[in-house]
This record gives sequence, C-alpha cells and structure tokens, in this order.
Amino acid sequence: MAEFQAPLRDMRFVLNEVFKVSELWASMPRLAETVDAETADAILEEAGKIASASLAPLNREADEQGCEWQDGQVTTPHGFKEMYQLLSDGGWFGLGGNPEFGGMGMPKMLVAQFEEMIQGACMSFGLSPMLNAGACVSLDYHASQALKEKYLPNMYAGTWAGAMDLTEPHAGTDLGIIRTKAEPNDDGSYRVTGTKIFITWGEHDMAENIIHLVLAKLPDAPAGPKGISLFLVPKVLVNDDGSLGDANHVSCGSIEKKMGIKASATCVMNFDGAKGWLVGELNQGLACMFTMMNYERVGVGIQGLGASEASYQNAVAYAKDRLQSRSPSGAQQPEKAADPIIVHPDVRRMLMIQRALNEAGRAFSTYAAMWLDISKYSDDEAQKNKAGNMVALLTPVVKAFITDKSLESAIHGQQVFGGHGFIREWGQEQLVRDIRITQIYEGTNGIQAMDLMGRKTVMNGGEYVREYIAEIEAFIAQHKDGAVGEFAMALSDQVANLQQVTDAVIARAKGGDKAAVGAAAVDYLHLFGFVSYAYMWARMVAVAGAQTNAADTDFYTAKITTARFFYQRLLPQTRALTEQVLAGGDSMMALSADQF
Ligand SMILES: Cc1cc2nc3c(=O)[nH]c(=O)nc-3n(C[C@H](O)[C@H](O)[C@H](O)COP(=O)(O)OP(=O)(O)OC[C@H]3O[C@@H](n4cnc5c(N)ncnc54)[C@H](O)[C@@H]3O)c2cc1C
Repeated sequence: MAEFQAPLRDMRFVLNEVFKVSELWASMPRLAETVDAETADAILEEAGKIASASLAPLNREADEQGCEWQDGQVTTPHGFKEMYQLLSDGGWFGLGGNPEFGGMGMPKMLVAQFEEMIQGACMSFGLSPMLNAGACVSLDYHASQALKEKYLPNMYAGTWAGAMDLTEPHAGTDLGIIRTKAEPNDDGSYRVTGTKIFITWGEHDMAENIIHLVLAKLPDAPAGPKGISLFLVPKVLVNDDGSLGDANHVSCGSIEKKMGIKASATCVMNFDGAKGWLVGELNQGLACMFTMMNYERVGVGIQGLGASEASYQNAVAYAKDRLQSRSPSGAQQPEKAADPIIVHPDVRRMLMIQRALNEAGRAFSTYAAMWLDISKYSDDEAQKNKAGNMVALLTPVVKAFITDKSLESAIHGQQVFGGHGFIREWGQEQLVRDIRITQIYEGTNGIQAMDLMGRKTVMNGGEYVREYIAEIEAFIAQHKDGAVGEFAMALSDQVANLQQVTDAVIARAKGGDKAAVGAAAVDYLHLFGFVSYAYMWARMVAVAGAQTNAADTDFYTAKITTARFFYQRLLPQTRALTEQVLAGGDSMMALSADQF
C-alpha cells in the first residue's frame, strides 16, 4: 500500500484561498485572539507528520490484530497506546476545546483538517479523538460549571477519554424507547442502570478513565423522547480533589466482531447502579446529546472523506505502476512489456471520480465547519442566525452525502487494483470495509435524509434552502464573467431545479401525502449534495482561474480540469435524481407487507 500523505496542499488551498480564513478569523474577535493563518499552517504541518509517519503505519496491522476482550478489560492493538500518548502529549485532544478549561480553542475549520488526516491514516484509532471531542462539546455547552471544571481539563488533555452511550439492543434510531433508568440519590447524583450496545471505545486501555455520556430515563419521566435525560457516568469515580477514586459500577460485557474498523472496540456496556451526574436539564437529554451528535455527524462525514482520500492516493500510485495492455492511442512506454494502467480511459474515469468527489467533499466539509465557527464565534446577530440555519441544513448532507460518495469512491479505488483490490495486501479492501460503517452510525444515512427533508426543509417551508440558494445565486452573479463563466449557466440551472424540486416535495407533504418525505428523502439529499458539490467546484474555480502564480500552474489547472469533469460526468446524475424524487412514493408503498 502507498504511504498515506496528508493532503496539505489541498487543505491549504481550501482554507487560505477558497475560504480566506485569515480575513474570516480576523473578523471574529474571539478567534482573532487565538489563531491566525501562520499558527494554523504550523498546526497542519505537524498534524500531517503525525498522521503520515506515526499513525498510518499502524493501520493495517491493527486491523489484523483487532482489540481483545478478557474479563471486562479491552486490550488495544499494538502501537495504539503509544499513539494515544503522543496525541495527549501534543495537546491534540483539546485542539478545538474551550481554553477556559485547557482546550486550545482552535476553529472547527482547522480541526476538520486535523480530523481528516487522522481518519485517513487510521479510522479505527481516529474514532477515539473524535468521540472525546464530541463528548467535550456536549459537556462544554450543557454541563454545570462544577462538572466542567472537574472533567474537561483531563478530557482535553486526553488523560481521560469520552464515550457516547445511546444505543440499546431494542433501541437504535428510536431512542424514545430506551430502558436505561436513572434514579436520584440523596446527594444530587443518580444511580444509572441498564445495558447499552455498540458503544465505540466504551472500554480500552489507552486512558486512565473513560467518561460515558449516557442517555437514561427517570422512573417518572414522560414517555418517548421527551423523557430522556443525559448523564455523565465515569468508569472510575473522581474524588473532590480531582484524583481517581473507586471503580464505578460500569463494566464492559463483550466486544463485537465486525466487518470493518476492526481495531476499534465496539462494546456492550453494563451500568449496574453506576453513579452518574445530570448534564443539562432533566428530560432535555436528547437536545444535549444532539449538540454532540451534530458535531459527530460532521466528523463522520470527514471520516469517510479521509479514508476515501487514502484510497485515492493508493489507487493513483498503483495505476502509475501496474503494467497492463497498451494505451488506445499507441504504446506509451514501448520499452516495457505493457503501459501503466493510468493510460486507459476507464482507469482515468475511476481516478477522476475519486478526485472530483474528494476535493469537493473537502471544500464542503470545511464550508460546513465555517458555519459552525461563525455560529459559535460571531458577534453579529444576523450572521450568527444565518450560520445556525446553515449548520442545521448542511449537517445531514455532510454526514450522508460525503459518506455515500466516499464508499463509492473507495470502491472505484479498489476496482483500479483489479483482483489485487480484493486481496488484503494492498489495503483497498480494508478501506472499503472501514468506510461502510460511516453510512450507518451516528444515525443511518436514511435518517439523515429524513432530517434534511423533514425537519430542515418541510417543517420551515423551505426557508433554509432558500437562504442557501440565495447565497449560491449571489455567488454566480458576482463571478459569472471570470473563470466561473464556463460553469455559471449549469450551476444556475441546477439551483433553479433544486428550488423547484424542494417546492414540489413541500407541496406534496403539506397536501397530506404521509409518505412524501420518507419516499423522497434519500434521492433529495443526493440531489442537494450534488448541487452543493457543484457550488464548491465553482468556488474553487473562481480562485484557481484567477491565479497568476506560474510556479504552481499544474495545481490550479488540475482544479479547473477536475471541475470540468465533475460538471460533465457526475453532475448530470441530478436529472435522474429529480425524476426519482418527483415520482413520489406510491409504487414504494403499494405492496402489502405480506407481498414481500
Ligand atoms: C461499529 C458501530 C459503532 C457504533 N458506535 C456507537 C456509539 O459509540 N454509541 C452509540 O450510542 N451507538 C453506536 N452505534 C449504534 C449506531 O448509531 C446504530 O446502529 C444506528 O444509529 C442504527 O440503529 P440500529 O442499528 O438500531 O438500527 P435500527 O434503528 O433498527 O434501523 C434499522 C433500519 O431501519 C431504518 N429506520 C429506522 N427507523 C426509521 C424511520 N423512522 N424511517 C425510515 N427508516 C427507519 C434505518 O435507517 C435502518 O436502515 C454504533 C454502531 C456500530 C455498528
């Protein structure tokens, strides 16, 4: 397998040139104090070294070795403990954390690049900093000052790790029916009892303590989602002076054998009257957990992207090396027995698809991260409001579209290897296996699509979509005379089509068609995703087309060529998606359950 290299040049392009972070960060006083382009660049450089040189080399062996469970203890694969310590020593667990409690306070736009590198190097390991960061976000927003002071500094330091405990054997998507219960103790804490399944890094040997964020219900809580509360339940109890005390009644019953991310422990967690503390208000647990889940959902999109980038790099190296057949335009390397397969149009097709999807995915996840940063750091109320709407609208698309496209990309990457893509040695089969989970956890991609179509679109009469479309139209108007001109008409048509399709689905849903949202949702999300990638490509072209820097001409011309490929060869899929959405759900719902 080719050595994974963090795509630093492209990350710098997206941050500095497309989204002009220097100006953006300087415009928000709280960020201006913490970060500038130079600091960000140094962080990227260092993170790139860690990802490429320290983490990526662990990936394959860790997948083969997996985690081991014995008597409730989980042993991680060779090198994971040292890697965890390295991240902890460097302060990486607190990269985006609140400086008041020891975090580094870096913007999500920068953290997103770090996450992509780590996930590209090793998805199984990457889940650990990702879950820890998500748990910290939830505590920072919702926990009491006392809980924050007690737990956040050690979590940002990586001394303690975070885990997210929602799922139960009978309750995955439908968390309203969870059975884990929390009963009040006299001292203000709670006794938490129940079983959670599929808990990523619920138990391991990399940190001194594991801080579980657990969803549970009080005995007299209202039925359904409105009765769910969130509790902080440490594996080891923490004394008032911050030192570790007795073991809590938390245990890992077993770990799962699974298709991919084999080096991460997916745990059954038992809480037997474990001591826990309420986070946020009683019965508001789902709202608190959503803070974490929204953060994680963007993280899962980035996770798919990182692995897809690794697949692309590997496929390009192989395509330049593997000799088979001659180029259709005549031998390119007559001195050799055959030409490298990169000469073949079909191999080019696969590599270009990977490249076009990855580069757009990187821009799109960074764009969503930009709105997360604005919603958190801006002092301008109107801008903050718009940012909140954009975060709500784009989060399910980042999660589901990027991960769907990342799996597609990784399958192309595997296909480039022919039979060798199916063989363990080359690493492509592991990437396909690993990426698959990103479509499932943190809410399946079907559920993300329902969220986009239902809560984020139909419920507000399409307001957020109109806001988004208005921004794209303003961009087209401003740039149509430059390099973007070539793409402006197509983008304009796509946006108009998205608006029409949105209006049609809203009308159908409001007209009493109960299945309208569910039937249209996934195709609508994909339509939305393609239009968003087209917008990202136009923004990248606007920068690349204006370049006069002769030293880097290849980089910029490749951008414009890849944009052209995306518009000509991938974007037309929106025509089929439009027809699929508008076809409605009658044929989907007509058979009785017995007819299946
Ligand atoms: C490796 C791994 C790691 C995980 N890590 C964690 C973790 O750290 N913490 C945690 O709490 N959980 C974790 N999960 C659980 C994961 O988030 C759930 O598996 C996922 O949300 C789906 O729930 P489920 O498996 O119960 O499927 P179900 O909810 O049973 O869904 C089955 C199918 O029905 C569909 N469906 C369900 N309801 C609807 C609906 N209303 N409309 C349309 N379709 C619907 C789903 O989309 C899906 O296709 C993990 C799972 C795995 C496999």
